[in-house]
Amino acid sequence: MDIVILGAGFSGLSAAYHLQQLGLECEVYEKEERVGGVCRTEIKEGYTFDHCGHLLHFRDSGIRKLIQNLIGDQLSNHTRQAWIFSKGVYTRYPFQSNLYGLPKEVIEECLLGFIEARNTKHEARSTNFEDWIYAHFGKGIAKHFMIPYNRKLWTVPPRELTTDWMGRFVPQVSLKEILHGSLIDSKTQLGYNVTFDYPKRGGIESVALALARKVQGIHTQKKAIRILLSSRYGRKQRGAHHKIRFEGGFDREFKTLISTIPLPELIRKVEGVPERVRKAAENLRHTSILNLCFVIDRPKVSEKHWVYVPEERFPFYRIGFPSNFSPYSTPKGTSSITVEVSYRRRKPTSVVDRVLKGLREMDLIKRGDKILFHHVIPIPYAYVIYDQHYKPSMKIIQGYLKGKGIHSIGRFGGWQYTSIEDVILEGKETAEKITLNR
Ligand SMILES: Cc1cc2nc3c(=O)[nH]c(=O)nc-3n(C[C@H](O)[C@H](O)[C@H](O)COP(=O)(O)OP(=O)(O)OC[C@H]3O[C@@H](n4cnc5c(N)ncnc54)[C@H](O)[C@@H]3O)c2cc1C
Repeated sequence: MDIVILGAGFSGLSAAYHLQQLGLECEVYEKEERVGGVCRTEIKEGYTFDHCGHLLHFRDSGIRKLIQNLIGDQLSNHTRQAWIFSKGVYTRYPFQSNLYGLPKEVIEECLLGFIEARNTKHEARSTNFEDWIYAHFGKGIAKHFMIPYNRKLWTVPPRELTTDWMGRFVPQVSLKEILHGSLIDSKTQLGYNVTFDYPKRGGIESVALALARKVQGIHTQKKAIRILLSSRYGRKQRGAHHKIRFEGGFDREFKTLISTIPLPELIRKVEGVPERVRKAAENLRHTSILNLCFVIDRPKVSEKHWVYVPEERFPFYRIGFPSNFSPYSTPKGTSSITVEVSYRRRKPTSVVDRVLKGLREMDLIKRGDKILFHHVIPIPYAYVIYDQHYKPSMKIIQGYLKGKGIHSIGRFGGWQYTSIEDVILEGKETAEKITLNR
């Protein structure tokens, strides 16, 4: 067995599942006690909390079928109830096509800015995300939502970001849609995630568990600490074996490695990695998240699924309501709220008090409500930052790994902004590529 997979998140599980379906043997090594990676779920005192909010959006019929075959009757379909809280009011998502309800002067600023942007000649290609925002949405929408929200989410000013990550994630609108959404409370939904599926019980981890049950040879609590590449490796000696060293001193030989662990960590583990590759990996930046989960002694604190919070005075950028994804996630008579706080390098301090102050201001926690308990889940890797160093650094690293027979895939292995479906597909495609080359 010469194929090793590092990491049992969705990308590693999918690669293993598809390799085994294609008749190849492989083994998966995961450092945590459980599979699922960032899609693990904590169940505490009867309350279900995903490590961070995870909903299933299918665009690929093959992946939809795979998941439905695994846990079809356990999935519920929902129509998104996504909102924004700003200027003391809740408006519908996306901000740009749902200005109705905001103060009149804000609506006027957004509309005039949008019209002005349409009538201004911009450079053919916006070089950074901030310029792109001004060119496509104008000054008002930039000021009241796009700039502050993205600054909070990405932890860096949008000027430092390129537009390479945006794809389906930033819905664009026409003047007609903006005008329509300024005059009436429009219920027309826009964007890629209008409906979603979510498991009835067990949170998002139940999907990862269902996939893991179809995979042979998963070893948990096995943390890779070093990768030793055989110096004999080369075109003439494709049979040469490399080695992975795991914490505790156990070594495992491999010819082909599928790594789904964060790319900069992978590079740090490879012995004798060239200086230019090591430096390129040091240039890669990412955000981390604290996911704060609160349990309140009152049912239905909100009818919504999630709320984006752009204003700087709130320390969080998004709030979710697990009770509204599945009635089984919260015992009767109570509610749960999750709050995402983004940061880079230094963990925020006194965050619980600041978050609670914000939730009270948003009227989600009312006078007299009792917080039964709270729980904080750290997400060390959340979003990779697409800055000016991203593309050149990735080119150097990918070129190096390709020459070593290492496939680094997934959200953090491939260092990209991808969904569960995207990484399941990537795992499948990697398995097919490896099978073809045998
Ligand atoms: C805040 C947030 C919200 C998201 N929301 C959604 C959503 O609503 N819908 C959606 O479709 N997608 C969403 N995503 C994206 C989705 O989570 C990812 O695309 C997907 O889960 C990534 O899976 P992965 O296997 O690539 O990575 P991971 O899940 O990170 O798996 C990597 C695995 O490698 C293991 N590992 C790390 N180091 C080692 C080591 N040294 N040795 C052995 N094992 C190791 C880790 O423990 C982990 O299990 C969201 C992501 C984030 C961060």
